[in-house]
Amino acid sequence: MGRKFFVGGNFKMNGTVSGIKDIVHNISTAKTDPNTEVVVAPPALYLLLTREHLDPKFEVAAQNIFDKPSGAFTGEISASQLKDSGINWTLLGHSERRTVLREDDDFIASKTKSAIEQGVGVILCCGESLEEREKGTTVDVVTRQLDAVNKMVDKEAWKNIVIAYEPIWAIGTGKVATTEQAQEVHAAIRDWLSKSVSSEAAENTRIIYGGSVSDKNCRELAKEKDIDGFLVGGASLKPAFVDIINANQ
Ligand code: PGA
Repeated sequence: MGRKFFVGGNFKMNGTVSGIKDIVHNISTAKTDPNTEVVVAPPALYLLLTREHLDPKFEVAAQNIFDKPSGAFTGEISASQLKDSGINWTLLGHSERRTVLREDDDFIASKTKSAIEQGVGVILCCGESLEEREKGTTVDVVTRQLDAVNKMVDKEAWKNIVIAYEPIWAIGTGKVATTEQAQEVHAAIRDWLSKSVSSEAAENTRIIYGGSVSDKNCRELAKEKDIDGFLVGGASLKPAFVDIINANQ
C-alpha cells in the first residue's frame, strides 16, 4: 500500500471565533479527496471549537505542546490534555518556534517523545535557513534536526510521525522551493530514514513539503515521488486550501 497523501493546515496565530468557524465549515462541506488525510492546526484557544465544528473525518492538531504531562508549567498544554480533548495531532519544531521562541533540537525531541507516548501524532517540522542553503549545508541541518528526535524515540514512533520539510526561506515569502529542490531534500530525508531508522520507516513515513504552497504550485509538487503532501500556512486560511487538499487527485 502506498503512502496516504497528507495535507496539514497551519493557521498560525490567525483567526477569530467567527472566522475559524467559516474556514472549518468551508473545509467540512467541500468535496475533498477521500484518499487525502487532512489535519488542521488552529491556535490553541480555538482547538475545541475547531474539533466541534470540523467534520469528524478530519483531524485537528495543536501547533505546539510542552514535554511534561501536567504540573506547574504556566501557559503550557500537554499531549495528554490534547488526547483528552479529542485532539490527536500536534505540530512540533516549526521554524517560527525554533527561531522566534528559541526552541532547540533537544527540546523538540523531548516534546516529540512526550506526544508519541500519549498517542498524539506529530507533524515534525525541519528545514534550513537561506544562509545554510547557500553554504550547501541543507541536508546536514535537516538530518541533525531529525537525529535529535531519533535519539529520543524508538523506531516504532516513526509510524506516528509525519516529517514536514519546510525551508525557512520559503515560509510566508511567496518564494516556493522548486519541485527539484524540494524533491532532492525529500529524497535525502527518505535516505536518512532508511539508514537511521529502518527500511520500513523509509517506505511508510510521509514526508510533506511546506513553504508558500498554493493552489497554483501544489499539483506540480505533488507529482514528485517523495512528496507525500503539504503543510500549508497562509493558503490554509483561504478557500484555495480545498484545491491543495485535492492536489493529488
Ligand atoms: P506558508 O507557511 O504556507 O504561509 O509559507 C507554511 C508553514 O509555516 O507551515
